[in-house]
Amino acid sequence: MKVNYDSLERKMKNLGFENVTSKYILTREYIELVLQEYNYSLKEITTAKNSSNLYEELKEPINPKYLTTRPPMIAIMGHVDHGKTTLLDHLRRSNVVDGEHGGITQHIGAFKVITPVTKSQLTFLDTPGHSAFLKMRERGAKCTDLVILVVDCDDLVMEQTKEAIKHIKNNLELQNPEDPDSVSKLVVVMSKIDKIPVASDRKKRLDTLKQQLVNEGIPVEGLGGDVPVICISARTGENMDVLEENLVTLGEVLDLKAESNSKQMCEGYVVETNKDPKIGVIATVLIKRGVLKTGAFLLCGNTYCKVKRMDDENSKVIKEAKPSDVVQLIGWKDVPEVGDEIIQVKNEKIAKKYIDERQQLIQEEQDEGRVSQMNEEAFLSKGQQKLRKQEKLESRKNRSFKTEDNITENGNEIAGYDGDVCKEINYIIKGDVAGSVEAIRESLMPLKNKEVKCNVIGEGVGLPTENDFKLAKSTDAKIICFNLGKSNDVVELKNTYPQVELKEFNVIYHLIEDVVETLTENLKPIY
Ligand code: GDP
Repeated sequence: MKVNYDSLERKMKNLGFENVTSKYILTREYIELVLQEYNYSLKEITTAKNSSNLYEELKEPINPKYLTTRPPMIAIMGHVDHGKTTLLDHLRRSNVVDGEHGGITQHIGAFKVITPVTKSQLTFLDTPGHSAFLKMRERGAKCTDLVILVVDCDDLVMEQTKEAIKHIKNNLELQNPEDPDSVSKLVVVMSKIDKIPVASDRKKRLDTLKQQLVNEGIPVEGLGGDVPVICISARTGENMDVLEENLVTLGEVLDLKAESNSKQMCEGYVVETNKDPKIGVIATVLIKRGVLKTGAFLLCGNTYCKVKRMDDENSKVIKEAKPSDVVQLIGWKDVPEVGDEIIQVKNEKIAKKYIDERQQLIQEEQDEGRVSQMNEEAFLSKGQQKLRKQEKLESRKNRSFKTEDNITENGNEIAGYDGDVCKEINYIIKGDVAGSVEAIRESLMPLKNKEVKCNVIGEGVGLPTENDFKLAKSTDAKIICFNLGKSNDVVELKNTYPQVELKEFNVIYHLIEDVVETLTENLKPIY
């Protein structure tokens, strides 16, 4: 509808809706009622083009003629320090031929493994696994078929394990007791099993874990469900083959398919990006359907790529990529957004046309948002204006916040309204990979209320540079680093710019808490 949320909320209250919040769920009848108020029909709305659905029209319907079996795409979740990275490293290393690239493995967002026994392919999404990667997890659910939940054999189920389980239950299919054909797309591993050498102790620990998982609503194998719990050690490699074969079997049972005919236009997701000073922008892409070949044109958000070169995850040049393959693409006009979908188009002209149209739609949406808000203000009756003032006073009483939820809830009001000056706390985000920087930005941007808001003025991959410190000094920004470790250069820069606040985090949850605390400290006191 291109209508500002506040305006919608007021209109709904005027219509007699009670307790309206952004989470309010409307029936079809009520939607039609609200739409009438804006002189829209439901059909107009659902078929209207907007910047987020524009590229949908390029997607072709599934073509059963071209469908063939494809390997599963797998994400890994679990509590911090429970062994996700080590597990991924083991899997990745197992696939690097000795001597090739000196055995060095690189982090490019995803990688492929050929299992030793059955020679089957598994594709792993190598996302940084720390807590609350909101957008990345959502993306993980969109472009993964299976999830491995990693649980440390000493700690067992912890806070972030529960968080991951919540996400799994919301986004992943689990066995449904009412449907005998349903299959859970989850495998649990009890990690670091080398720490428990005695078999009977292991068994006891495994039973405790299984019970904890059942209590969390996971249908565990042997306890009425189908989710296997496999004891592994990524350090010694124990049972890693069992894990891999379990994933292969599950992939086969799910009978995953995609069009792998070269006539099928390609679709996929960007999972990682980086900039090489010599080569330029490189994006790691996971192929969802179709066959990608050098020379193809790919549309992605506000940019496109004429595929100049395709490398596999081991930086070996390849000529074509099939569904569930991981490719590093060179030939981008600009850096694409991590998590965005890519869609193949016939030529450069079409790519440019769609990008122009999308940018125009974005502009229109922004303009209309502003206009509809202004109109709304102009049309408010004196009585409604008074009511609004009262509401404002009321919400002022409830304005202090302690949790990020409250900030987001209160963040509906526009900044600067009625003479209030909204204080902006500036941040520069630096992270280990584009995906984590993006996830942090997405988590921080909604943190605001009428008085204070979080403003991300800069971001980037890698350790903070002198430019970051200069920018921070001139804009009074704080620099937050995520998963970057220590460096002497940064210590030196910190000494050169003592006024710049620099903080380091390895758990995103702690990072958000810290920002919330800073915002809270910046609220004006109530007298
Ligand atoms: P993540 O935070 O979940 O990615 O956890 P990491 O993979 O970084 O592992 C956390 C710690 O556990 C590190 O010190 C690892 O060396 C250790 N670790 C990981 N896997 C194993 C394992 O199989 N056995 C043992 N003994 N330690 C492990």
